[in-house]
Amino acid sequence: MSKPQEQAPQGVPYLSLQKEYQALRDEWMQAIDGAGASGAFILGPNVHAFEAEAAAYVGAKHAIAVASGTDALVLSLRALGIGPGDEVITTPFTFFATAEAVSLVGATPVFADVEIGSFNIDPTSVESCITDRTRAILPVHLFGNPADMTRLNAIAKDHGLHIIEDAAQAFGAEHNGQRAGSMSDCGCFSFYPTKVLGCYGDGGLITTSSDEVKARLLQLRNHGATQPFIHVEAGYNSRLDEIQAALLRIKLRDIEGAVAARRQVASWYDEMLSGLDLVTPQHAVNGRHAYNLYTIRHPRRDALREQLNGCRIGNSQCYPLPLHLQAVYAELGYKAGDLPVVDGLCYETLSLPIFPDLSREQVAYVCEQVARV
Ligand SMILES: *Cc1c(COP(=O)(O)O)cnc(C)c1O
Repeated sequence: MSKPQEQAPQGVPYLSLQKEYQALRDEWMQAIDGAGASGAFILGPNVHAFEAEAAAYVGAKHAIAVASGTDALVLSLRALGIGPGDEVITTPFTFFATAEAVSLVGATPVFADVEIGSFNIDPTSVESCITDRTRAILPVHLFGNPADMTRLNAIAKDHGLHIIEDAAQAFGAEHNGQRAGSMSDCGCFSFYPTKVLGCYGDGGLITTSSDEVKARLLQLRNHGATQPFIHVEAGYNSRLDEIQAALLRIKLRDIEGAVAARRQVASWYDEMLSGLDLVTPQHAVNGRHAYNLYTIRHPRRDALREQLNGCRIGNSQCYPLPLHLQAVYAELGYKAGDLPVVDGLCYETLSLPIFPDLSREQVAYVCEQVARV
């Protein structure tokens, strides 16, 4: 590190939403004012309109807004009747909330290994995990890259299993012409600010094409009530508010632009990192990657990390410790090496800055620093 970093004294943030906020500010402020003046703050007209618009975009019959992506998973599992004694096969290479939701409904997560190329759950490994207690498969469209839903749906059909898609990172992703969240019993989305479609607080959504599941979800998100003060089960307080729904409606209008901008950033990285001793993210097979994250594999990941930190280039180790080896799951008895693909991946992956307003110059600066390692 002999050269001064005169090219980009500011570094490059991992994620910056300030520019987007300035562009949306006036319209959002007006919508907030309208919601305030109307006196409808929770599950009001903006929430209902957003649910209809999101269902149409995703290509599902219904959408039910909830308080977070984690709640979307928990409520979906409950709505499908999954609970104590049941096993749910999922991926160990994801944000903890995926498996946590399974634990929170009293079921047991069973971890399959992942595909080295897509980082997504490996259908062959899923099949080897099926027992007579298995009730569902919970794939994640990791980093915005759709999982192999064609094979997973075939396996689920053969064994009479449900599928819940964790599409928290994949709003706008596609597999075989179908949008993430529309290819299973329930699609679960998070609107945490860092996601492809993010709000400025917490929020989540479930998509489903089953009328029965929809009815159960509406009940579960509102304290198990079928009508005011009449409760048929213990549910949750998991509702979206008008302020977040109003913002989500504004952002949904140009979601195609946001996904296209992310894909443009990803293609700059692909081009500028080609020829280096590292592996760029696999493109979606038969589909569209939404690039919530741009995650590379590098043989000297820790050295790369140090180099980027030294230039104030934001980065993240998604994910440093696979879920089957987390302390919370010690009692499940997994050991390092049990799932060899994911165990190796965790030492190699690093996520680079990506968001719609990232410029070509910023990407070039990041790639220049990556090339030094
Ligand atoms: C963000 C995320 C969640 C949880 O969403 P929250 O809205 O933060 O509760 C679940 N699964 C995955 C894969 C995520 O990335």
